[in-house]
Formats: sequence, structure tokens, C-alpha cells
Amino acid sequence: MDKVTYQKHTNESLQPASLQFDRHIYLDNAATTMIADEVLQAMGEALKYNYGNASSLHTSGIKAKNSLENARSRIADFINAGPSEIFFTSGATESINTIIKQAAHTFKHKGNHIITSTIEHHAVLNACKFLEQNGFEVTYVKADNFARINPADIESAIKENNETHNQKNDSNNSNTILVSIMHANNEIGTIQKIEEIAQICTKHDVLFHTDAVQTFGKLSIDVKKMNIDFLSASAHKLHGPKGVGLLYIRGGIKLVPLLHGGTQENNFRSGTENIPAIIGFEKAVEIAQENMKNDAQNIIKLRDKLIHSILNKVPDSSLNGHPTQRLPNNAHFSFKYVEGEQILKYLDAHGIEVSTGSACTSKNLEPSHVLKAIGLKAAELHGSVRITLSRYTTEKEIDYCIEMIEEAVKKLRKLQ
Ligand code: PLP
Repeated sequence: MDKVTYQKHTNESLQPASLQFDRHIYLDNAATTMIADEVLQAMGEALKYNYGNASSLHTSGIKAKNSLENARSRIADFINAGPSEIFFTSGATESINTIIKQAAHTFKHKGNHIITSTIEHHAVLNACKFLEQNGFEVTYVKADNFARINPADIESAIKENNETHNQKNDSNNSNTILVSIMHANNEIGTIQKIEEIAQICTKHDVLFHTDAVQTFGKLSIDVKKMNIDFLSASAHKLHGPKGVGLLYIRGGIKLVPLLHGGTQENNFRSGTENIPAIIGFEKAVEIAQENMKNDAQNIIKLRDKLIHSILNKVPDSSLNGHPTQRLPNNAHFSFKYVEGEQILKYLDAHGIEVSTGSACTSKNLEPSHVLKAIGLKAAELHGSVRITLSRYTTEKEIDYCIEMIEEAVKKLRKLQ
């Protein structure tokens, strides 16, 4: 990696940071991540030399097919899945839509009820809304003030037609067909007890999907041990490329496909496979797996320094999300008497990129549905800032960020 160069700016104008800095201090890694050098190199080589269509029977096609299957095995291994249980997609939005809509469609003869939570990503919430408009019933379980979902609330929301609990996906009499709960929240970082929730689902013969976009590559996931039926993930959150993701579907579960076309992805997801992107995803997973423990330790150290310093130095500041059960790289603050958007712009003008909420909603002036769901009052809602670190974040960057947040909040409050 290049060394990041930055200096404290005396220019107070709110010019786009790109006009002032060679490189930004990028602290918005929940939105997306910088591509890793090794990923870029692997993809560059694949774009140039591995351009065959994996369905072609000639040498280039076979080479592409081999790369595809190697990547599938490698990534499957990472979450203790079998290669036949991994389906490559265009990203987590597609994976999530496929699971929610196609599980509903496939199992509608068994029931029409789905359970999710109020703090899910919009990919889940809007897919569920679509199903509600098409005759399905959705229960949105509430989270507590730390954004934690109580597994007991999931259990009491499950609807069953009778008392028989047969094997999963076999003469299931439950009226609830699917539970979808995210592994960790993309805005405030709270990690859910998905193992417990999955166990409850197994007990009641209900299928369980987890949106693991924010944890894939950061926390260890064992789909077998954790009783996960479906899992969605995306490469661009772990220093891989955009436009590629995956869907894990537990062996034995057969869903009706969302996309119809060729026979790719075992007839489940048609479309010519994006081999360079899949190779990039594989490389990103390989790096994440090799460094997961080390990365987590380093990132947590920096994140905790950031959290403690901000809470100590900035009056009327608070941390959102769970104090301990949170993503290693997530720090989410509320600052009273100042707008989060103003802080974002101030920091951006000083070379630091953060977020006021999730990237998908940050252009929307509506307050975040997650912050509303955990009961934040207007003052905390509007003065919120999300800072998300990566393995490339340095202590120097965090020190500068602490200094600039302190300065931003102080100055902006004076202007109010
Ligand atoms: N789910 C969560 C928790 C996310 O953070 C995101 C991206 O921000 C998505 C789903 C959508 O992922 P993708 O960008 O791959 O479609």
C-alpha cells in the first residue's frame, strides 16, 4: 500500500476534498472498500488472459470454468459450505431478493408468513414490502435500544398450523416459511445472535436466511454449525470488486430461480459468469481468511481508541449500537446540537470520508430507519456519524480523525 499523506488544512472552505488532497482518509468501509492490490492484480490478469466463457468447450472456456470452480470451492470452504451450495450473483441485493422472493414463491403452499426485523437493510425490507403487496404477511420484529433482536421475539412471532415439527423442508406444517435476520447491522454495527435464532427456526421447521454482508470476511461463519439455510454476501465489502456476490443455499433446498436463461450456476442463476470478478472475490476471501484474526485485533484497537477518545473529548456525544457486540470496524456516534451532514462535509473538506448513515440512505434526508427503530431522539438522530475502519486504517489516520471531529463539532456548534 502507498503511504497515505495528509496534512491538517488551514483552508476552511468546504471545497470537495478531492481538490485538496492526493488521497483521502477513507473511513466509510461499511459502504464499500478499497480494492486490495492483490485482488486488483488477480483481476487484471484474469481480464487479460482469462476471458473465456465458462460454458465454452474449448481451452479458454475450460480454463474459465476451472477458475470458476476453484473460486467456488475456495469460498465455500471459507464458510464450511459445499461448492454446490454456493451460487455467484451480481451482489447482495440480488442474493437477498432471490432468497426472499423465491423462498416465498417456492414454499407458498406451506405458508404465507415471513419474519424479519425493523433494522434490516433496504434490500430485505423492500423485498418484504413487495411480498406484502402480493399477498404475503410479514412480521417486523423490533430491536432493543442497542439494535439487538431478542431470539425469543422471533420464536413468539413464528406461526404454526399444528404442533408437528418435522424435518426441515419436509412436510413442514408451519405457517411461517422464512425468517431473515441480518448477521450485523450496516449502520450501527450491532451483531445479532443468529446462531440462537437459526436454532429456533430449525426447531420450528422454518427456513433461516442471514444477510451477512457486513460480517463476511470479518467474523468467522460456519453455515453448518450455525444452522444457516441461506446466506447473502458481497465482495465489495471485503476489498473485492463491486458487482459480484454470493448466495449460499443449504444442500437439499430447491428454489425456483429468479433469473431464467442459460444453464449457468447449476440452472439456478442464468447469465455468463463474470470470471475476473469472481476471481477477485476469491482473492479477497483468501486475504480475509489469512488475516481475519490479526485484522480484527488491530482494527478493534483503533476503533476503541476512536470511541473512547471521542466520548471523552467531545461533550454531548454518545455511541450508538451495542457497546461490545459490535462489528470490529464500526463506530457510530451521535453529537447533540449539530447536524451529522455538516460534520461529514467538514471532515470531507479536511480529507476524511465518513458517513451519516448507510450509503444507500445517505442521500435521503429522511432520518435512518435503524436509528429511529432504536429510539434515538431527534437531536441524536440528526447529529449522527458512522465511521468504519478497514485493515488499511492506520493509527495516524485515527488520531487525525479524532482531532478533526473534536474541531468540527466545536466549530459547527458555535455556528448554530
Ligand atoms: N445488506 C447490507 C447489510 C449491506 O450493507 C448492503 C450494502 O450496503 C447490502 C445488503 C447490499 O449489498 P450490494 O451492494 O452488494 O447489493
